[in-house]
Amino acid sequence: MKSLSNAASAIKPSATLAINALSQELKSQGVDVVSFGAGETDFFTPDPIKEAGIAAIQGNKSYYTSSSGVAPLKAAICGYLDRTFGVKYENKNICVTSGAKHVLYIAMRVMLNPGDEVILPAPYWVTYEEAIRMCGAKPVILKTDETTRFKVSPEQLAAAVTDRTKAVILTNPSNPTGMLYSEEELRALAKVIVENDLYLIDDEIYATLVYEGKFVSAAAIDPELYKRTVVVNGVSKTYAMTGWRIGFAAGPAEIIKLMDTYLSHSTGNACNIAQYAAIEAYSGDQTCVEEMRKKFAERREYFVSRVNAIDKVSCLPPDGAFYIFMNVSKTFGSTICGEEIRDSSDFAQALLKHGLVATVPGAAFGSNEHIRWSYATSLENIKKGLDRLEKFLNNEPLA
Ligand code: PMP
Ligand code: GLU
Repeated sequence: MKSLSNAASAIKPSATLAINALSQELKSQGVDVVSFGAGETDFFTPDPIKEAGIAAIQGNKSYYTSSSGVAPLKAAICGYLDRTFGVKYENKNICVTSGAKHVLYIAMRVMLNPGDEVILPAPYWVTYEEAIRMCGAKPVILKTDETTRFKVSPEQLAAAVTDRTKAVILTNPSNPTGMLYSEEELRALAKVIVENDLYLIDDEIYATLVYEGKFVSAAAIDPELYKRTVVVNGVSKTYAMTGWRIGFAAGPAEIIKLMDTYLSHSTGNACNIAQYAAIEAYSGDQTCVEEMRKKFAERREYFVSRVNAIDKVSCLPPDGAFYIFMNVSKTFGSTICGEEIRDSSDFAQALLKHGLVATVPGAAFGSNEHIRWSYATSLENIKKGLDRLEKFLNNEPLA
């Protein structure tokens, strides 16, 4: 048989989804695993949104739509972005796809030529690196750590720019670290981006899940940056709608038009029914968003105080999103529950095997000193998971 695509064969599978699949498999075998793997909220989609989905089925929203989404959803997204973040767009600036993951891929597809460079601050969400490579471009990874609260500085960004640099990716607040760039920090980065004629891909999927500081959209702070920014967002996290698969890009009309063309030959359109549910999400009562945010805030507080009371591990309090990026490097070189711990993968694997707790090794996010916990799970599970972490670190295996 002839060989398959070299480009496709080189893609690494998503580590977050792999951990999710593994913990689901263990659970189905009756193993009592507590999972902190994939970042997926445990809340149900709010009732009015579900009802809008049901009404869409009853109303026969069963046909193809325009490949970049239905006009009323684009209008609802424009209204939402203006009311929530003070950024103005028209329908021609919006492209709806099957989840924000797909938005990122399509945005890069239409922006990048093979050999282009994309600056990617680390720790980063797993998909960016592979999506850049899937477009034949090169990720230029900028390491950050706790000393700068995992934030990239304008000097670091400027030093990484070459003749081949096309775009910069920012995630605000960040997955996996939860850190939030302030308006001042964004302005300093914007200056470098504009001066070097780069595009900004600004992933704002956690924008409404902020506990410390104020979220500011990069597109809102500077008209020059607005012209070169593609904002990425979607309903998955804010409205507990991961499986509905609706994400969107907001950005320059020329980019959106190319994305539309690309979609017309790939997915066609995002699910018509889900698009109508998303209209309710973006234009309906937003109380549900605040209710979920408050629950996450409680879990975050509990998580941070417990982790920082445990010897050998630590974390910075995340400003937003729903992840704890826990530094485990003090355990490197030791043996825990009979396993030698040399890096984040050893730690996560040993914790799963002997503590029955699923987390994602930081290596998947470009940092080998950490493991990521998603606290989009009940307080009860968080307590159970952290009790198990303590036992594990005390060499008391559960399994
Ligand atoms: N961006 C970030 C930073 C994420 O964590 C996720 C998680 N799924 C996504 C984008 C994609 O979200 P979705 O495809 O569910 O809209
Ligand atoms: N974004 C979430 C995560 O980081 C969901 C899983 C995924 O799509 O990667 O865990």
